[in-house]
Amino acid sequence: MDSWDADLHIHSPHSIAVSKTLNLDTMVETARKKGLRIIGTGDITQPDWRKYMATHLERTGEGAFMYKGVHFFIQVELEDSESIHHVILLPSFTAAEELATGLRSKTKDLDGEWAGRPHVHLTPAEVVEMVTKLGGLIGPAHAFTPFKAIFRQGRYKTLRECFQGAEKHVSFLELGLSADTHIADQLSCLANVTFLSNSDAHSQGAQSLGRECNRLEIDAASFNELADAIGRKNGRRISLNIGLDPRLGKYYLMFCKTCRRRVLVNIQSGVAGQDNGSTPIIEKSGKEKPLFPLTNTSFSISDKFITYQVPDASARRRLLETVDKKKVICPACTGKQKGVIQLGVSERLELIADQPPDTHPPHRPPYLDIIPLVEIIRAIKRVKSTTAASVTRMYDDLITKLGPEYGVLADIPITTIKKEDETIGTVIDAFRQHQISFIPGGGGTFGKISLPEFE
Ligand SMILES: [Zn+2]
Ligand SMILES: [Zn+2]
Repeated sequence: MDSWDADLHIHSPHSIAVSKTLNLDTMVETARKKGLRIIGTGDITQPDWRKYMATHLERTGEGAFMYKGVHFFIQVELEDSESIHHVILLPSFTAAEELATGLRSKTKDLDGEWAGRPHVHLTPAEVVEMVTKLGGLIGPAHAFTPFKAIFRQGRYKTLRECFQGAEKHVSFLELGLSADTHIADQLSCLANVTFLSNSDAHSQGAQSLGRECNRLEIDAASFNELADAIGRKNGRRISLNIGLDPRLGKYYLMFCKTCRRRVLVNIQSGVAGQDNGSTPIIEKSGKEKPLFPLTNTSFSISDKFITYQVPDASARRRLLETVDKKKVICPACTGKQKGVIQLGVSERLELIADQPPDTHPPHRPPYLDIIPLVEIIRAIKRVKSTTAASVTRMYDDLITKLGPEYGVLADIPITTIKKEDETIGTVIDAFRQHQISFIPGGGGTFGKISLPEFE
């Protein structure tokens, strides 16, 4: 048995907003820098991409494929009639053809240039049944995000509600960038479900591909071995989930759907009330009827954040419940179009959780919350983007000297890293000891780390 780091959900240039330079060669280049040994093909029901993959991948065994030393599993994401996304892994190109044939009458566009992630007129249970018949593996994608996900605001609270009788065929649940095991295990209905942490990459860059992955304990990169690892059978298993610290995800905090400000709700006893006339928490109808105890609530607005101060935990909960009913209007939006506040991953979980944090089933592997190396470099260089040329240069330089990224983040001795770069070593040391501050993400904006000592 051997350990294989695998990123099992990516996209192709046939999905919206995917880099045109994502291809097998550029993917493999990043996989080597990360330490990834297995990647999903992405978008396999799109005919051009399927043909490209079938032409270039070398078959190395049952459901097993390879390109320049990196292994691939056949994969696609699709959206069902309830706008829930599912990740699908298939045992063969034949199964991929059969899935495409089965879906063709259920969607307006399966074969078009932009059909990478098709929307199909099938219920969640019907999608699961179809994939199961083909011998594939399926589970809800980025399960807690505010859009297109099973547990989003106003949708389901358990797997059973969503899949009914097909629940037993759900093979796994994908956590998504803004959630981790600590968040997800607060739902008791997931106790028996294997979690996957995948990147959902829209680019081959180091900031995207492999930002999350799963460490598989398997004998070989074959589909049966993968199915056993996900099913926790024959000694195969996932021994580690590696993924972004949820605060770095772009849907961690609640947000205004219009101005995209992120919303914080801080508990602070003895908070003074504010002018009732400007209170932010009002019913969506024209009446502006207050729905919240005004005397104990205040708020402030900045460029990117709205911060509520509430007196206690029950006031926080009442505010979140009111947001869940889509009844809280943004106090910061100016102009005619006032935004509605929508829950992020963390608050949605807070509302539907039915057990305390850190109650994990015995089979659950550890989750390593990481800060991507490009984010650490970006913060040190005090530039805005993780794709800036100066960041990429330093990233490539460090990987060349120290080896793959996962090793640099998790394993390599700090003294070794410091010999190459003192500052990077100091920050990775702080990260390993959980001593880094975060500016949490939300509303589509990724979170960031803050390193005041370097400013
Ligand atoms: Zn998706
Ligand atoms: Zn707003």
